Amino acid sequence: MARLVLKFGGTSVGDVDRIRNVARHVKREVDAGHHVAVVVSAMAGKTNELVGWCRAASPIHDAREYDAVVASGEQVTAGLLAITLQQMGINARSWQGWQIPIRTDGSHGAARIQEIDAAEIVRRFDEEQQVAVVAGFQGIAPDNRIATLGRGGSDTSAVAIAAAIAADRCDIYTDVDGVYTTDPRIEPKARRMARISFEEMLEMASLGAKVLQVRSVELAMVHKVRTFVRSSFEDPDAPGMGDFDNPPGTLICDEDEIVEQQVVTGIAYSRDEAQISLRRVEDRPGVAAAIFGPLADAGVNVDMIVQNISESGDATDMTFTVPAGDLQKATAILEKAKAEMRYDSLQSESGLTKVSVIGIGMRSHTGVAATAFKALAARGINIKAITTSEIKISILIDGDYTELAVRALHGVYGLDKA
Ligand code: ADP
Ligand code: ASP
Ligand code: MG
Repeated sequence: MARLVLKFGGTSVGDVDRIRNVARHVKREVDAGHHVAVVVSAMAGKTNELVGWCRAASPIHDAREYDAVVASGEQVTAGLLAITLQQMGINARSWQGWQIPIRTDGSHGAARIQEIDAAEIVRRFDEEQQVAVVAGFQGIAPDNRIATLGRGGSDTSAVAIAAAIAADRCDIYTDVDGVYTTDPRIEPKARRMARISFEEMLEMASLGAKVLQVRSVELAMVHKVRTFVRSSFEDPDAPGMGDFDNPPGTLICDEDEIVEQQVVTGIAYSRDEAQISLRRVEDRPGVAAAIFGPLADAGVNVDMIVQNISESGDATDMTFTVPAGDLQKATAILEKAKAEMRYDSLQSESGLTKVSVIGIGMRSHTGVAATAFKALAARGINIKAITTSEIKISILIDGDYTELAVRALHGVYGLDKA
């Protein structure tokens, strides 16, 4: 007998029929004698609708009330799944974040889980064979109000609960059957990986592959949670679906569990990037701090930073990216502080995409970046900025070329070949 966490994303619980299918996955594991906690997302599209309603009510709104609104989607699916399980003869009970409780910090809208008291859930496993159906994406903040964990946060709820109950496995069921070499919606030739290392998955997620929320990968890595990404759409009773050690899907694991390491593992992309250039910024110590300090204070996430020395040598151009949604806020801050920052002019551009090449093998191989640049050049794609780290290269391009660039990079590293 084992303890399992099963998480189902929005498409997997998109209507009552799909919830019934989810219940069959749960039943399979219960029938095998396992103790199960299920984490559910809101129905597909629901969270977007709720966010839209908050914005329609007021473009600028109280984050605590935003949380009160957007957390409701998961409350509905948790209740519906508990009803469905009960109807199938399975003892099940739904839980909202505050009922467990899942305690978070006070950053409403993007809260981090701090502590989970799973004692009651475990007691009900042992004494009542009861399935816990937990509303994902939410917890309770120090002000005793509902807090949500940022978009995609149900993945994080699932891994955090798995860590709290010392689960043997955490299965993230979604609308694809694993983690692919790139988004299979953009590149049909993408291949599913049997395994991917925590570090690479962390980079893939933070560079745009939304199959897992970044924080869930961090938690899985720190707490050594055995996490699989798998499909909810396969027949719950097909052969192998209940395999305990090797379920179908992708295992996120330590680097040393991967036998054949590729140089490049995957390609990620993130749309809706914007670029800001400050022309002729005075070249003196402290200037970067003067620019990026106020942006950080306002919660603007600055990413790729490029600094060029101007011809005369006394001034510099500072170019950087921010999420397109933060462009207005960033521009307003920079214009307000123009006198202090001492720059000549500000230019901005939105509609950009960051494409990234990821692979642990880059640590020991040269020429990976040059290959990417050549592949993009051959297709006439202009590069606007580049950043690199030990295991990734990110390139900023015009958003219109996203698909072309992703496919070109995927092909040039042979990721479409087994
Ligand atoms: P859920 O609602 O189940 O949480 P998401 O939409 O958040 O599902 O994440 C699954 C989606 O992630 C897939 O439909 C796929 O388009 C996208 N995706 C992006 N990159 C990858 C990748 N490398 N491997 C698999 N899926 C990816
Ligand atoms: N429903 C939330 C969202 O759409 C959380 C999740 O699905 O993971 O972001
Ligand atoms: Mg998701």
